[in-house]
Amino acid sequence: MFAPSEDQQALIDAARAAAEAILGPTVREDDEAERFRRDAFRRLGEAGLCGIPTAEAWGGLGLGYLEYAMVLEEVAAVSAAYGVALAVSGLPQVILARYGTDAQRERWIPGLAAGELLGGFALSESGSGSDAASLKTTARRVGDEWVLNGSKFWITHAGVGDVFIVMARTGGPGARGISAFIVPADAPGVSFPKREEKMGMRASPTGEVLLEDARIPADHLVGKEGEGFRIAMSALDSGRITIGAISVGLARAAWEYASRYACEREQFGRPIIRFQGVGFMLADMAMRVEAARLLVHKAAWLRDEGRPYTHVAAMAKCTATDTAMAVTTDAVQVLGGNGYIREYPVERYMRDAKVMQIVEGTNQVQRLVIARHLERTFGPR
Ligand SMILES: Cc1cc2nc3c(=O)[nH]c(=O)nc-3n(C[C@H](O)[C@H](O)[C@H](O)COP(=O)(O)OP(=O)(O)OC[C@H]3O[C@@H](n4cnc5c(N)ncnc54)[C@H](O)[C@@H]3O)c2cc1C
Repeated sequence: MFAPSEDQQALIDAARAAAEAILGPTVREDDEAERFRRDAFRRLGEAGLCGIPTAEAWGGLGLGYLEYAMVLEEVAAVSAAYGVALAVSGLPQVILARYGTDAQRERWIPGLAAGELLGGFALSESGSGSDAASLKTTARRVGDEWVLNGSKFWITHAGVGDVFIVMARTGGPGARGISAFIVPADAPGVSFPKREEKMGMRASPTGEVLLEDARIPADHLVGKEGEGFRIAMSALDSGRITIGAISVGLARAAWEYASRYACEREQFGRPIIRFQGVGFMLADMAMRVEAARLLVHKAAWLRDEGRPYTHVAAMAKCTATDTAMAVTTDAVQVLGGNGYIREYPVERYMRDAKVMQIVEGTNQVQRLVIARHLERTFGPR
C-alpha cells in the first residue's frame, strides 16, 4: 500500500504517458475555450482508462479502486477536467454493475468502459443540492414507459454526454420516494438548454438537463422503485474516492511545479527555495499532498476489501480537496506575479481546485457524514 506494485507502477506510467500525449498539448487552450474534446476522451478509452474498476467481461480492466485512484491522480495532474470526465462517466458503470439488470449492463457498460459513450449522473436540482432527498423531478409510469418532468442543474456532461443516471420522484416526499433511471441523451423530451460558464474546471462541461414529458422505456428503471436515493448515495461513496484522487493529482502538479520554480527563480542572489518562508511553504505542501494521498488510498483499499468505507471516503474527499485548495493557492504565492498570469499553469490549478470542495457533497456535508459515523460509533446504543 505504501509503494505501488510493479503492475501498478506500469499502469501509473501508462496513464501519465497517455494523459501527457492526449491532453497535455491543448490543456491550456481547452481551459481558455471551455472546450471538451470527445475525441480526446475516446483516446483515453483506447488507452484503457475509461473502465479501470469495471469487470473485464464488460470491457473494463477489472482492477480495484486503488488502481483507479492512481490513474486518476496521473490524469488530473495533467488535466483535472478529464480526470473528472473519467470519474463521472464511471458513475453509471458502477451503478449499473451493482444495481442494473443483465440487459442494462450489456447495453451500456461496454460502451462507457471503452470511452465510446460518455456518461453522467443527475441528482442535483436548483432547489436541492446538499438536501438532495428533497428533489422535485417526477417520474410517472404511463403504459410501457416512464414519463419524467423536471430540471437537473449543474450536471457534468450535460449537452455532450450520451446517457445519464437520473434520480426522480416516483413516490412520496423524502429519500424513499426517489427512483433511479437510465436516461439516454436523445430520448424524446430531453434537452440541454443551458451550459454554465465557470471559474475553473472549464474544459469539463456543466449544464442543465431539462426533462419535459421525457419518455423512456419501462425497463430503464435501475434497481427497484424507491431505491434511487440509496443507489445515488452508494455511487457518491465511490465517487468521493475519485474526487479525492483527482484533487491529489491537482495538488501534486501544483506543488511539483512550484518546487521546480523555487529552485530556479533567484532573488537577492539566491534561489527563492532557500528563503525559509518559501522553503517551509513547499515543505508544508509536500506533507499535505503525501498525507492526502494516503487517506485516498486507504478509502480505496477499504472499498476493494469489501469493508465499510463511507466515512473514510468522506474523510479522503474532504482532506484531499482542502489540500488541493490550500496547495494550489500556495503554489500561486510561490510563483509570485507569474503565479497569477495565464502563461503559467498554477492559476488554473487553483481555479480547478475550488470546485472539488463543492461537488459530490460539499466539504460541510462530508463533515456531517463523518460526525454521523462518530455518533453511531461512540453514542449511546
Ligand atoms: C462544476 C460542477 C459540477 C457538478 N456536477 C454535478 C453532477 O454531475 N451531478 C449532480 O447531480 N450535481 C452536480 N453538481 C452539483 C453539486 O453536487 C452541488 O452544487 C453540491 O452538492 C452543493 O449543492 P448546492 O450547490 O445546492 O449548495 P447548497 O446545498 O445550497 O449549499 C450552500 C452552502 O451551504 C452549506 N450547507 C448546506 N447544507 C448544510 C448543512 N446541513 N450543514 C452545513 N452546511 C450546509 C454547503 O456546504 C454550502 O457551503 C455540480 C456542481 C458544480 C459546481
